[in-house]
Amino acid sequence: MTIDLRPMFSAMRAASRHDRLPDLAIRRRRLDTLKSMVVDNRKEIATAIDADFGGRVHEETELTEILPLLSAINHTSRNLRGWMRDERRHVALTFQPGSAWVRHEPLGVVGIVAPWNYPLLLALGPVVDALAAGNRVLIKPSELTPAFADLLQSLVAASFATDEVSVITGGVEVAQAFAALPFDHLLFTGSTDVGRKVMRAAAENLTPVTLELGGKSPAIIAHDYSLEDAARSIALGKFTNAGQTCIAPDYVLVPTDKVDAFSRAMQARIAQSYPPESAASQFTNVITDRHRKRLMDALEEVEQAGATMIQPPKADFGTKIPPTLVLGAPDDSLLLTEEIFGPILPIVPYNTLDDALAFVNRRSRPLALYAFSHDRHAQRIILDGAISGGVTLNGTLLHIAQNSLPFGGVGKSGIGAYHGRDGFRRLSHARAVYKPHLLNLSEHLGPPFGSLAHWIIR
Ligand code: NAD
Repeated sequence: MTIDLRPMFSAMRAASRHDRLPDLAIRRRRLDTLKSMVVDNRKEIATAIDADFGGRVHEETELTEILPLLSAINHTSRNLRGWMRDERRHVALTFQPGSAWVRHEPLGVVGIVAPWNYPLLLALGPVVDALAAGNRVLIKPSELTPAFADLLQSLVAASFATDEVSVITGGVEVAQAFAALPFDHLLFTGSTDVGRKVMRAAAENLTPVTLELGGKSPAIIAHDYSLEDAARSIALGKFTNAGQTCIAPDYVLVPTDKVDAFSRAMQARIAQSYPPESAASQFTNVITDRHRKRLMDALEEVEQAGATMIQPPKADFGTKIPPTLVLGAPDDSLLLTEEIFGPILPIVPYNTLDDALAFVNRRSRPLALYAFSHDRHAQRIILDGAISGGVTLNGTLLHIAQNSLPFGGVGKSGIGAYHGRDGFRRLSHARAVYKPHLLNLSEHLGPPFGSLAHWIIR
C-alpha cells in the first residue's frame, strides 16, 4: 500500500503561504536547529551509515559529510543577512525618475530527493540553502540507506515542526509519488536516468527542477606535473568512499610515455594509504551486491579484451573490491563509456593535449574535470577545451568544498547549481519591483502611441 503524501504536502504548503516571509532571525534559528541536530547525533549518524554500507569508517563520514555540512551551515548563517537584502538595479533614462530593485523571496515548499552515496550531505546540504531562502522542505532519502533514512526521519521529527521540515522514507513507488507532488522547486541528486524521470514528473506541475546528476569526470595530467603528486590527489579523489562519489575522477589521461611511471606511483600511493593491517577495515564497501556485480562485470569485460588489471593483494581487503587500476581498456568498454562509481581507475594514454581533450569531448559533459599542470598555458588549454560542471586544478574534489562556488553539472551531468549564495538564489524567487517617482511621466503613457514611440526610438 502506498502512503498518500498529499495531506502532508498540503499542510506544508498552507504553512508556507500563511507565514510567507520568515525573517532573518527565524531562518537563522532553523539553521541552528539543523546544526545542533547533526552535531548532537554525529555518532548515531556515522553508525547508521556504516551499517547501510556494510562498512564505512566513522572518520570518513565525519570528514566527507558532517564537516562540509557544518561548514555550509556556518557560511550561510554568517552571510544570510547580506544575501536577503533587496538589490537595487539600474533604471534607464526613459523611466527616470524611478527606482528598481529585486526582492529575494521564498519559493514555498521545496522537495529534495537524495541518493545513497553521501546520504547525510546530499539530503541536508540542499536543506541548508532551502531554509536560508525561507522555504519549507520535504526530504526523500534513498531506500538503499534505510538505517540512515529512519534515523534522519526521527531526528528531523524531533527537531522541526512537521510543516517546517519533514522526511518521507520508502522505495521507488514512494519516490515516484514524491516527484509528482506540486512542489515550488524540486532538487534531485542521483543518476541521469532517474533525473530524466523526475524532470518528466515535475513538468506535469510546471515545477522547476535542479538536477544534480552523474557522469564521467576526467583527470588530465600534463607533461610537466609530478606523477607522485598527481597520484596522491587522484587516489584521494577516486578511492574515498570506494569511488562512490559523483565527482570522483572517473578515468585518468596520462602522456603515453608516462603511463608506466604513473601506474607505479598510483600503486605506491595505494599501498601507503591502505596498509595490509588496516585495508579491510578502513576501505569503504560497495553499497549492494547489485552494484558490486555491475563493477565485477565491467572488470571481466576488459579482462577478456586483454586489458591489464593491477590490484593490491586481495586478502588485504577482505570481501571488498580493492582499489583497481586498469591499463588498456577498450574505448567502447563499459569502463570507458558508463560512469564507474566504484574503486576502479582506467588509465588512458594520450599523445597531445588536443588528443586528451578530444577523448573527453567524445563523451557527454562531465560533472567535474581535474587538470594537473603548473603551466598556465596548459591549464588554459584544458579549461578552454572541455566543458564541465566544475573544476579543480592540481587536485581533486576540492571545488565542491568551496562554499563561495556554485556546485552543479552541465548537459547530462545536471541542471542548475546550489551551495552558498548560489543555492540561496536558486531556491528564492527573484521578484522584480519598479516604482516610478512622483515626477515620472510614464504615468502619462497611453494611446495613441505613434509620436511617443518615435520620440523614444530617436
Ligand atoms: P538513483 O537515481 O538511483 O536514486 C536517487 C534517488 O532517486 C533515490 O532517493 C531514489 O529513491 C529516487 N528515485 C528512484 N526512482 C525514482 C523515480 N522514478 N522518481 C523519483 N525518484 C526516484 O541514484 P543513486 O544510485 O542513489 O546515486 C548514484 C548516482 O547519483 C550516480 O550517478 C552519481 O553520480 C549521482 N550523484 C550525483 C551527485 C551530484 O551532486 N551531482 C551527487 C551524488 C550522486
